[in-house]
Amino acid sequence: MDIVVIGSGVVGMTTAWRLARDGHRVTVVDRAPATAQGASHANGAQLSYSYVAPLAGPSVWFDLPKYLFGRNSPMRFRPTFELFQYRWLLRFMGACTQQEALATTDKLLRLAYLSRDVLHAASDIRGLDFAWNKAGKLVVQGNAAGLAGAQAQVEYQSRLGSVQQVLDRDACIRLEPALKGIAHRIVGGVYTVDEEAADPYRLCQGIEGLLSGDNSDVRFVYGARVRRLLRSGRRLLGVETADGNVLEADAYVLAAGAASRRLGLTAGLDLPIYPIKGYSLSLPIANDDAAPRVSVTDTEYKVVYARLGAKLRVAGMADIVGTDESIDPRRLGQLVAQARETFPLASTWQQMEPWTGLRPATPRGLPILNTSGIDNLLLNVGHGALGFTLAFGSAEVIAAALAGRSSPVPTDDFSLAAA
Ligand SMILES: Cc1cc2nc3c(=O)[nH]c(=O)nc-3n(C[C@H](O)[C@H](O)[C@H](O)COP(=O)(O)OP(=O)(O)OC[C@H]3O[C@@H](n4cnc5c(N)ncnc54)[C@H](O)[C@@H]3O)c2cc1C
Repeated sequence: MDIVVIGSGVVGMTTAWRLARDGHRVTVVDRAPATAQGASHANGAQLSYSYVAPLAGPSVWFDLPKYLFGRNSPMRFRPTFELFQYRWLLRFMGACTQQEALATTDKLLRLAYLSRDVLHAASDIRGLDFAWNKAGKLVVQGNAAGLAGAQAQVEYQSRLGSVQQVLDRDACIRLEPALKGIAHRIVGGVYTVDEEAADPYRLCQGIEGLLSGDNSDVRFVYGARVRRLLRSGRRLLGVETADGNVLEADAYVLAAGAASRRLGLTAGLDLPIYPIKGYSLSLPIANDDAAPRVSVTDTEYKVVYARLGAKLRVAGMADIVGTDESIDPRRLGQLVAQARETFPLASTWQQMEPWTGLRPATPRGLPILNTSGIDNLLLNVGHGALGFTLAFGSAEVIAAALAGRSSPVPTDDFSLAAA
């Protein structure tokens, strides 16, 4: 089959790779001049298979005043004049119940474990150099209530296959000595041995290399913004780029991250995807022992750390502020201060690569896979804070749908209505 994939972020690239393995001819089209220039460029780098609990959880009600009025809150809300922002927020708040959060966690865990299985089984991908770090992940808690909640989540997830250990403060520091400077604000944590981290940009570059050989049936068209999807009834006839060219294929996969909503509207699809802005820093590691070896999540600040070769990746913030991708110096300063307090000697703090990206978030935190109401358009969108983690599994679901194989996860779990 001829297939056009719109978007060359980690979701589009893994989809192209998986479809090529099934023998399809694939064209990847992207408005950017190269792969992974959107949310996949410098994200938190976590392959966070066992940490998939959605942002929409019951604690949001408790934390709401802080998010709305706090100066240094990890989450921030700035009202815009779009009706869609309010519609999205109403659905998001409606999903902030314990029952909904647990149901979403179940679905995401299944997709995350599928992702891990697909990645681990892929010998060509395993051979790429993308700073793949398998040292596990430690999520530290700053108060007893947080630790009790984490313990309950560990017990809940153990029946779904997660292997996690609850540690006290001393055990956390023994596991990750670089945390000793903040021992006073840690009461304990959860260690998950099989969590991983890696560089999503280098993964995408590696996949492009794999798919670009002389005999390859995959073509990359960069610098071509898709202006609209050309729909006739229940079919797409093509995708029109800004210079007026039309790319035609037998089937199309929409994987345009946070821009997917706008593109969907051109074909009459109302995709509930809102951009949630985050920040990251990439720092050269100056002192090996002072930088964490395991991935660390600091739940007090809601900041994640991952070691990527000779660099430390730091990421955080969830700002509901529209599509503005500029770096707010105050938010960046907050992230730098928190990272510096946590791992003061890890870096000289002179050379920092700051970055922002937009998480393509659905209200419940579930991606939308497959179903669109247009027979030859498959959706692979709305992965929110977990797109890197879920990319290989999502690609597997899309490939199964196109090949007429049974879906490796229940399709209703990732429908438009479920998101
Ligand atoms: C600060 C931050 C930290 C994060 N940390 C993690 C993490 O630790 N682990 C994790 O799993 N996930 C993480 N995420 C989420 C993850 O980065 C995203 O879910 C993921 O990158 C989404 O991938 P994507 O391919 O769907 O979107 P993108 O990477 O945004 O790719 C979409 C592509 O579509 C292209 N495009 C858009 N519009 C058009 C158009 N009209 N025509 C042609 N091309 C178009 C864009 O140029 C872009 O290349 C984080 C995100 C942020 C912002």
